[in-house]
Amino acid sequence: MQDIFHNQKAYFDTNETKDISFRRTQLKRLKSCLKENEDFLCDAIYKDFKKSKFDTIATELALIYHEIDVAVRQLGNWSRRKSVPTNLVNFPARSYIIPEPLGSVLIIGAWNYPYLLTICPMVAAMAAGCTMIVKPSEMPIRTSNALKKVFSETFDEKYIAVVEGGIPETTELLQLKFDKIFFTGSTHVGKIVYKAAAENLVPVTLELGGKSPAFVTSNAHLKMTAKRLVWSKFLNAGQTCISPDYLMVDESIHEKFLMLLKAEVEKENFAVENDNYPQIINERNFDRLVAMIPREKVVAGGEWDKEKRWIAPTILRDVSFSDKVMEEEIFGPIMPVITYNNLDTAISEVKKLSKPLSAYIFTRSRKQKSKVLNELSFGGGGVNEAVMHISNSNLPFGGVGASGIGSYHGEDGFKTFSHFKAIVDKPNWLELPLKYFPHSSTKLWWIRKIFKF
Ligand code: NAD
Repeated sequence: MQDIFHNQKAYFDTNETKDISFRRTQLKRLKSCLKENEDFLCDAIYKDFKKSKFDTIATELALIYHEIDVAVRQLGNWSRRKSVPTNLVNFPARSYIIPEPLGSVLIIGAWNYPYLLTICPMVAAMAAGCTMIVKPSEMPIRTSNALKKVFSETFDEKYIAVVEGGIPETTELLQLKFDKIFFTGSTHVGKIVYKAAAENLVPVTLELGGKSPAFVTSNAHLKMTAKRLVWSKFLNAGQTCISPDYLMVDESIHEKFLMLLKAEVEKENFAVENDNYPQIINERNFDRLVAMIPREKVVAGGEWDKEKRWIAPTILRDVSFSDKVMEEEIFGPIMPVITYNNLDTAISEVKKLSKPLSAYIFTRSRKQKSKVLNELSFGGGGVNEAVMHISNSNLPFGGVGASGIGSYHGEDGFKTFSHFKAIVDKPNWLELPLKYFPHSSTKLWWIRKIFKF
């Protein structure tokens, strides 16, 4: 690891990665190597947790291709020097900002969207002109192996290297003095990464998790809301960081809404035999999830098959904030429904938990929409929609508070891996005497005049 790291630093110092046409060429190369290996990559993830080819392409590769296309198209604009007005005290001069790559970076990925969560930050780091070590999650092991194989065949290790492994390898990587660490994973491990980075004063972006609420008010379009919530919750068997973790439903419509949710779940085919419904990633998570299901509160689902690591989409009613299912991020196909009779109180209850990565509001009332959007702090989200904000490269993607630090996607990704150098560029034909000795009350008068105070 040390060797790779030092070689990458030395390579970065050659300035080759700073060249815009180099960056474009490498981004295009990334896209073609992914396209060429699409079947291989889809096969690996299917073997890991039965994620279908359709889902892998629709929820991972399509978004990655889009990010690459946007970066290739916009790179010239993002990376150009930008002039800003010069203030009077610096007259005569030009002022401008030069974006520069941060240097050699470390990208640590999570397991649940193993391609998306490692390759999207890579796209951003490549666009910015960095070299990088990528550490995919070890949990989907075939997927991690596939990334290693594809990238080591495509890129020189001094530019992009994949280092595989779990806690010991990541701990070793975290000792190195990278120019940036980009981490996706749990809040618990995020703290470990943050601490290690602080030792070397390495800046971090932390893409973490949390319990993301979805509010359903009395005047929501209930049928459409049920449809969208069932899709977004049970996508990837609920193992999505921005999936609605729990629902806050207006008491007046909650019986009707529960029936609509149940009907929607029954309409879809989430059977154990369905090749489009993924497995729970491992036995540890399977056991953790099953232990969260109180039999007496099950409205739909509540069945499982341990051998196949399958849990049916499960809807729970009459849940309260003190229930086990509300103690931690669920990260599985369990949808607890909590009722409220006053939106203000509901928001206050949600605010008692850590700031979530996402929040969603389903309503046709502008007032209720504004209330949730203005009063609750969260990473990002949607109105009458869930999860889909991740697919728009024009929106920054990231958390706030315990759900993360920093953001990426599109230009935000470029900025995440860049430093913006601020320059005052002065000619030599004039020098105002203000800043030099001897100081005087006239000079002070001028300073007050210039700064207007
Ligand atoms: P995790 O924190 O267990 O693992 C993430 C990465 O950290 C892995 O590469 C793992 O090898 C490494 N790691 C684990 N323990 C470590 C340790 N002690 N020291 C150093 N490195 C360690 O997370 P996960 O189980 O892969 O993913 C699930 C979590 O990630 C959920 O909380 C989810 O909400 C969150 N998540 C967030 C986003 C986002 O974009 N914000 C996306 C996906 C997942």
